[in-house]
Amino acid sequence: MRPVDIIRKKRDGGKLTPEEINFMIDGYVKDEIPDYQMSALLMAIYFQNMDFEETQVLTEAMIRSGETVNLSHISGPKVDKHSTGGVGDKISLILGPLVASVGVVVPMISGRALGHTGGTLDKLDSIPGYRTSIPVEEFVEILSEVGISIIGQTEELVPADRKLYALRDVTATVESIPLITSSIMSKKIAEGIDGLVLDVKTGSGAFMRKIEDARRLAKSMVETGKLMGKKVVALITNMDQPLGEAVGNAVEVVESVKVLKNEGPRDVRELSIALGVEMLLIGGIARSRDEARKMLEDALEDGRAYEKWRQMVFAHGGDPDAVEKEDFVKVKGTYLVKAGKSGYLAKFDTLKVGLGATVLGAGRSKKEDEIDHNVGIMVLKKVGDQVSENDVIFEVLYNDESKLQECLGYLESSFSISDSKPNLPELIFERIE
Ligand code: URA
Repeated sequence: MRPVDIIRKKRDGGKLTPEEINFMIDGYVKDEIPDYQMSALLMAIYFQNMDFEETQVLTEAMIRSGETVNLSHISGPKVDKHSTGGVGDKISLILGPLVASVGVVVPMISGRALGHTGGTLDKLDSIPGYRTSIPVEEFVEILSEVGISIIGQTEELVPADRKLYALRDVTATVESIPLITSSIMSKKIAEGIDGLVLDVKTGSGAFMRKIEDARRLAKSMVETGKLMGKKVVALITNMDQPLGEAVGNAVEVVESVKVLKNEGPRDVRELSIALGVEMLLIGGIARSRDEARKMLEDALEDGRAYEKWRQMVFAHGGDPDAVEKEDFVKVKGTYLVKAGKSGYLAKFDTLKVGLGATVLGAGRSKKEDEIDHNVGIMVLKKVGDQVSENDVIFEVLYNDESKLQECLGYLESSFSISDSKPNLPELIFERIE
């Protein structure tokens, strides 16, 4: 086989055989196929697409490039959740402990902030002592003892994705449904899961702004997962406004703990429960939606979900009490962005809120940027809320004046106020299985 013939076949719209896909991935990981030929193949896939069978073979080839986690000795269903990324999306921090507290084993390997969206690992890094980088053996040990572990990508799992993702990043081939599908699904399946719930976000703060694109990505991931013998369900959810109030890192941890203590914003609680219901059904822990919802509400009300969070933080070397202290979020100043007129909050440009938080230091503009875990934005009005002139829309927690000014450049034009009450936005648009 020659790479050039495989590239030409895909360039001309052909369907690649498993042998051809395996040849390209194995050869690339072993440095036998150079970047320029893999780049050409990625661009051909970008334009010509891959069907579900090709995507499944690609996903399997990527998984085979490294080790996989064996969780078969741990009893209980192993189910994870993946979000395509949003603004204020702290759901993993709540959902993981919540479903683990009722018997689901959650092996969650998460990512860092990407573009304008936040990352679960950066949020966990704001907890003193919490180690997101641990050996696979320790990950398995924590799963066996606590039932949940949230850590970062390891060197051993899916090295093909690290190499391919870096290449996609610089060859304008990230935005391809089969490439996104294989990248996400390979990493999730390598964790040793039986099932997966996907939170595919759409709207002004999502990577898939249009619902048709979100639907295509959701279907691709669900079908690829099913072809690989996994139970996969996707919810398409609203990212037309930030989720909850807190956008940042430490501030999102504080809000997550509130929800785990049965308080906190309604949308964060509702989405956590909705995704949790799917995880319980996939895991066979509950027989009906009503039963699953009741189990999760009970765990929030009687403190089991919060206790599981504490166990998880402790098992990773973190101090769960630090989060409860007044000085957990320390900043030099706060700035209030106020409404210029009275009316109803009609709309957010959520991308701008995410970019505002990023330039403040809550995310990275360049790969090597250091995160400031304390800064953030509190979103104090949501779509449909009545506002009076001078009501506070955002409270900005900042450490650096010049970054505050840059952030305000985004925030001040990130919302609009109307005279009439807008329709209340739906939180969940569709369920795909
Ligand atoms: N996240 C991933 O892990 N991979 C992609 O390709 C896109 C988002």
